[in-house]
Amino acid sequence: MANAAWIAELRSRLGGEMVLTGHAELVAYGFDATYEQGLPEAVVLPRTTQQVRHVLAVAHASGIPVFPRGAGSGLSGGSVPSGGIALALTRMNTIWEVNPEALQAEVEAGVVTADLQRIVREHGLLYAPDPGSASVSTIGGNIAENAAGPHSFRFGPTSHHVLGLEVVLADGEVVTLGGRTSKNVSGYDLVRLIVGSEGTLGVVTRARLRLLPLPQGRASAVTVAPSFQAIQDLIVRLARSPQRPSSIEFLDRACLNLLSEDLAGLITIAPWVQGLLLTDFLAPPQEAVAEAEAAADVVRSAGFEAWVFTGDPQARLWAARERLSPKVARIAPTKISEDATVPIDKIAAFLDDLQHIREEFHVDLIVFGHAGDGNLHPNLVVDERDPDMMDRAKKAIDALFRAALRHGGTLTGEHGIGRLKRPYLKLCLSPAEIAMMTAIKRALDPRGILNPGKAILDVEGRS
Ligand SMILES: Cc1cc2nc3c(=O)[nH]c(=O)nc-3n(C[C@H](O)[C@H](O)[C@H](O)COP(=O)(O)OP(=O)(O)OC[C@H]3O[C@@H](n4cnc5c(N)ncnc54)[C@H](O)[C@@H]3O)c2cc1C
Repeated sequence: MANAAWIAELRSRLGGEMVLTGHAELVAYGFDATYEQGLPEAVVLPRTTQQVRHVLAVAHASGIPVFPRGAGSGLSGGSVPSGGIALALTRMNTIWEVNPEALQAEVEAGVVTADLQRIVREHGLLYAPDPGSASVSTIGGNIAENAAGPHSFRFGPTSHHVLGLEVVLADGEVVTLGGRTSKNVSGYDLVRLIVGSEGTLGVVTRARLRLLPLPQGRASAVTVAPSFQAIQDLIVRLARSPQRPSSIEFLDRACLNLLSEDLAGLITIAPWVQGLLLTDFLAPPQEAVAEAEAAADVVRSAGFEAWVFTGDPQARLWAARERLSPKVARIAPTKISEDATVPIDKIAAFLDDLQHIREEFHVDLIVFGHAGDGNLHPNLVVDERDPDMMDRAKKAIDALFRAALRHGGTLTGEHGIGRLKRPYLKLCLSPAEIAMMTAIKRALDPRGILNPGKAILDVEGRS
């Protein structure tokens, strides 16, 4: 079908206002939070599963690529289109049910994560996944990326909180996967297959999510250390402690310099400090404080200072942590946020490698992350208009991925492979794994129309 024909077909099935083709509209849906850019031929903004079904039926019949997207806050180029249809789910944003008796919610894919968190909190419940982008990202995008955040150290990433899904397959068939129970071993775990599949196996339209009782108390223990080895030792001690923190966050010296005003009056950062650990406890109020005090004692018994924060000072600390990413983004025009992940007993070695990479390639590298999960975000702050700088940045990224893999780690803990990390997949996956993934892709999307060029190698195993 010529372009005009499939676009006309979409308009007649969905109505004109659902299908945008103006240049400004195409540009607006052509990027995510990376420096990657592309241009779709049409943007489609469905309101119902039935409309998503129509889009895929038309695309499948015509061999048109479909690039599902939520808020476009992704950090791996996952929703960036190249031609075809940018299918934005943001208008499908109804929270159908919050069920305090079953500890579950049922939502459409376009619901903004923070909106769900807020609504369930009013019922005394917690939706635990807490990506830093929660105020903009969508539940569908979180599911597609298996998003996580600080508190996934204790509660797990998004996959731990998805019970069931409604998914539109590549040919337009609508399937319901999983169910309403927190345990389910009836056949293959198809819900987990879709979670983290980055829009390459189906379009998520609805999700049934697990909720937890809302912890009423919160306290944090903070420590600083003079070396990467000391930081790693403390992470391991805290992770092994019976208190079981909700999160263990790491901020390197460069982060602390950026946050010096935000931390003023809370913690004094001496010149010898190489990094800070922010350990959080969510529990009933008395317990949260007792656990943070016990964690501080664990740190003190290893010979380091520790401080416990509750109430306003604690809120200020976490507000500073949340301001970090935007502050890093203001240093230079382009922020490349990686999230290589290593076993926690290799954090010191990986941080040493990052120090060498910073020196070898003359790049500005700022590191923070969810240390309890070994999930570090080395952020390169560069200028994409400077080819020499971008060349050095790309070499540094290559080196940091190889370092993480050498330590038994992986390319990404939560941002996904998308477009940007695809060239490195062969370093990380075995031929058997690549063959299984391409077989699944071929079975579910034989025409290869769903988010082509992303997340996995193509059916011939090429990147
Ligand atoms: C400042 C900042 C902080 C961040 N912090 C975190 C963090 O702490 N943890 C974390 O995990 N991530 C973080 N991210 C990355 C990003 O926000 C997450 O990956 C998020 O899950 C993306 O959601 P989105 O709705 O923006 O999806 P998009 O960026 O639009 O899409 C992401 C991927 O999901 C696919 N997709 C989207 N919706 C659907 C759907 N309904 N069905 C099928 N596929 C779909 C797309 O094709 C694409 O591959 C951060 C990003 C920024 C900019």
